[in-house]
Amino acid sequence: MSLSAHLSDGRQVVLGPALAKAGEGTIYPLIDDPTLVAKVFHADRNDLDQKRAKLAAMIAAPPVGATQSDGFTVLTWPQQLLTGHDGRFGYLMSRVDTSTAVEIHTLSNPVNRADPLPSAPQWTRHATWGHLVNVAANLCLAVEAVHSVNAVIGDFQERNILVNDTTRVTLVDCDSMQFSDAEGHRYLCPVGRPEFTAPELAGTDLSTTLRDPAGDLFALAVHVHLLLMAGNHPFLRGVWTGPGDQPDAMTLAKTGEWAGGPGSRLHTHPLAPPPTFLPAAIQALFVRAFSDGARTPASRPTAAEWRAALQTINVVTCNRGHQLPAGNPQCPWCAIDAERALRKQQRAAPAQHPIPVPAAGSRPWAEAPVPVPANGSWGPGRIAAVAVAVVALVIAIPLGLRALQADDNSPAQSQSTYRTVTADPNTYAAQAPTATVTVTQQPAFTPGPSTATATIVGTCDEGGTCGVKQRTAPLVSAPRLVSTDLRDGDTVTLMCQATGDQRTSEGHGTSSMWYRLANGAYVNSVYFNATPGLPAC
Ligand SMILES: [Zn+2]
Repeated sequence: MSLSAHLSDGRQVVLGPALAKAGEGTIYPLIDDPTLVAKVFHADRNDLDQKRAKLAAMIAAPPVGATQSDGFTVLTWPQQLLTGHDGRFGYLMSRVDTSTAVEIHTLSNPVNRADPLPSAPQWTRHATWGHLVNVAANLCLAVEAVHSVNAVIGDFQERNILVNDTTRVTLVDCDSMQFSDAEGHRYLCPVGRPEFTAPELAGTDLSTTLRDPAGDLFALAVHVHLLLMAGNHPFLRGVWTGPGDQPDAMTLAKTGEWAGGPGSRLHTHPLAPPPTFLPAAIQALFVRAFSDGARTPASRPTAAEWRAALQTINVVTCNRGHQLPAGNPQCPWCAIDAERALRKQQRAAPAQHPIPVPAAGSRPWAEAPVPVPANGSWGPGRIAAVAVAVVALVIAIPLGLRALQADDNSPAQSQSTYRTVTADPNTYAAQAPTATVTVTQQPAFTPGPSTATATIVGTCDEGGTCGVKQRTAPLVSAPRLVSTDLRDGDTVTLMCQATGDQRTSEGHGTSSMWYRLANGAYVNSVYFNATPGLPAC
């Protein structure tokens, strides 16, 4: 059944069948205009007056760079209010071409990139490290557009960032952004994900907190890190050398201790590249973002600074086909390949030490410190935990994640089907997408068996202590539900599955899917030898 509505300029439109349903509202196509979609809010929401005022303010002040000259959508910024003849209200925005676009985590994670789901765009297989640098620069361009109108992305998480096959970037869910109008009305962003939330926001009530753009710049640096560093989160994956268990990501962010950073007790993971393989200018920006920025958010590089530095990276190819910045004495991807081969060898051999040690001298740069700027300051800050609501508006195709045997940083492959942006690097607006504009509804969840049994695997691949915690929630920062950890070879009963924090595990890929066990505890799906489809928890 189609829904008719009128726009704020008086025009009448007819909406087609719903494309996607999200927590706040429903996305509809416009029958007569394939370039637009309507988001219509659910009538039972109690904040609709506030939402209407915010949208009107955003519509009145569109960022210059929201749409590029060839029509490519950088921001799905609200364009016009809409009132349905059934009384519901919503707004129009550009329709994103999801036939060629992927959520950014699909690209930054090497496993997902190299082996996309059959239903997902396949071009990611051919993306090289150089392409990821392009993506990072284009992401900066989108952030610059948002910040140019004093808006703050706020919920700057990976599901709100789409990348198409020309490496161009679209930010979606713009109506959740923080926005202030000319009269000084402030409309806040009450949601966010912990792993992309700046440490100064830890423990704050986001529904009443005015955010500073510096918070976005923390998340931007995390996204750049994920892209350039093979999907490794700067505060999640490394070898913890301090006392006790590795602190959660937010605690480390508050103390400015990131993997391989100056003075950090979180050292570079043996299967991750060290920051020292990056050009000095990029390393310095990470130091400002994560080390200096832990105490002084204003130290963080702006999106324009990041973009300028990223555009100077001179990408070269090693003799095994990996891409890396020029000037490295050794290819980090070759070294990781060697480390991985060594681990496999040691796993196959009987009675070996469970925690393989890198071959001496195989990574001469691994312990090299990141240069410390003259005015740099690092040190432990106060430790606190944070719990932030997770809300993800589904507009694009949720591609999901696969827990597969990791084989990151595979050598560069043919670029025959991959279109690289080659024109003016200042705009990154070179090539228009040619695919048909479509928005695909999220496929319905198909219930699998009611329970399943699976064996714990891969907990020794992370370095440090073997075993995986059984947590109270599907979050990396959630406390233990039970005191004992699961070990490789343990068999457990899985009751249901839930989406939570993304967990990076060398042995078995990366996933945001968690299983709830019969004892009520949550364990990330990467630690199981099977990934059965189970009912949602
Ligand atoms: Zn190499």
